[in-house]
Amino acid sequence: MEILKTKREMQAWSGLKKKEGKTICFVPTMGFLHRGHVSLLEKGRPLCDELVLSIFVNPTQFSPNEDLDAYPSDIDNDLTLAKKAGVTAVFLPEKDDLYPGGFQTEVTPGPLAAHLCGKFRPVHFAGVATVVTKLFNIVMPDAAVFGEKDYQQLQIVRQLTLDLDFNIDIVAGKIIREKDGLAMSSRNAYLSAAQRVSARSLSQALQTAEKKIQAGETDPEQLKTELAAFIHSFDDTRVEYICFCDPNRLMDITRISSKPVLLALAVKVGHTRLIDNTLINR
Ligand code: AMP
Repeated sequence: MEILKTKREMQAWSGLKKKEGKTICFVPTMGFLHRGHVSLLEKGRPLCDELVLSIFVNPTQFSPNEDLDAYPSDIDNDLTLAKKAGVTAVFLPEKDDLYPGGFQTEVTPGPLAAHLCGKFRPVHFAGVATVVTKLFNIVMPDAAVFGEKDYQQLQIVRQLTLDLDFNIDIVAGKIIREKDGLAMSSRNAYLSAAQRVSARSLSQALQTAEKKIQAGETDPEQLKTELAAFIHSFDDTRVEYICFCDPNRLMDITRISSKPVLLALAVKVGHTRLIDNTLINR
């Protein structure tokens, strides 16, 4: 497994592989890998000859009041997991290499970024779109795997791939959960034991909504009120949003019909912001 620390090294490696006729699959992450990340690597492994993992905590997708400086890291463990999952190259760029002095160009996503998390994290998706574009140009992959855990990010990446003419196959990976249903996230490490109990309320709310919809509930507002009350019955929780939306355009829906509906939510548990979602097919 090669470790490449600069964009020049990464570009040269990918260029060489391409010359040799090899295909490249790419999994971008912010590190502190868990089973969710590993599942993306396992999904990507058979798709191409080479498997590239990037670890970069991208500063431009964090607002000044967010957790950039506290973001957890364990490079040694990440490298062990990467090797086990069959990664052939790890890209570990430094901030100044990706954003040298004078950097000023940004990729601004369209209306997809205005919904869900975009309302609460105003700079986030432009930061994501910009770094993903840069990483695509540096790694030059044939396929890239993104998790459905960050469903809105996945849709924005699909759209930017289409809009900016990247010839990259975007592959989605299912949400990997803890035994009690909590979606795996590097940020779960911030939770105290008591908050960890409260964090279960997110996936439990998704399951409750699914059951009620299967039983005939069609009113998203009614469900939102019930789910918010359920989540707020747990200590230290504050719902940021609960949305029922169309899974492609992410627009709010006013009535649940036989069409697939995305239920997405964001909840602060203490200072930790957690997101989760599920696609409901009646
Ligand atoms: P992150 O390191 O949080 O930026 O995530 C890197 C990639 O892993 C993104 O495509 C995420 O959607 C994905 N991911 C994070 N958590 C999970 C999970 N629990 N299950 C599946 N994919 C995940």
